[in-house]
Amino acid sequence: MDRIAQCHCGALRITATGAPEWVNACHCKACQRRTGAVVHSGAYFTRSRVTIAGAAKTFARPADSGYRISFHFCPECGSNVYWQAGRFPDHIGIAVGAFADPTFPPPAFSVWEESKHAWLGLGCELERFVQGRTGSPLGKPAA
Ligand SMILES: [Zn+2]
Ligand SMILES: [Zn+2]
Repeated sequence: MDRIAQCHCGALRITATGAPEWVNACHCKACQRRTGAVVHSGAYFTRSRVTIAGAAKTFARPADSGYRISFHFCPECGSNVYWQAGRFPDHIGIAVGAFADPTFPPPAFSVWEESKHAWLGLGCELERFVQGRTGSPLGKPAA
């Protein structure tokens, strides 16, 4: 199964094949500012199952994990469609909102709940973390 994520104007598109390796929700203030939304959700796919089309600009910063994270966004409309986290070099993160698919798999875990908006309820069972997740998102010990 192929899913297509795209920016607001459609110039930057990414096709992901198969199910995501993992999906999270993040309430950190950096994600709130980056997305303009009160919560961010990200889906991670192995690189070999992702095809990117269209130009992108990049904004990189250090992540709380200590690794660098690079966000790629459409130079025309500014939507952040995908990112590359130094902590997970074999994966591409894709903004779940960019799929605009309400049937997309829900997050398995939620991080940085210390800055979660109080009115926001998450209508699914998930692991919850006050700050960043410890350990691997796939349930294996952290490398
Ligand atoms: Zn665009
Ligand atoms: Zn975040």
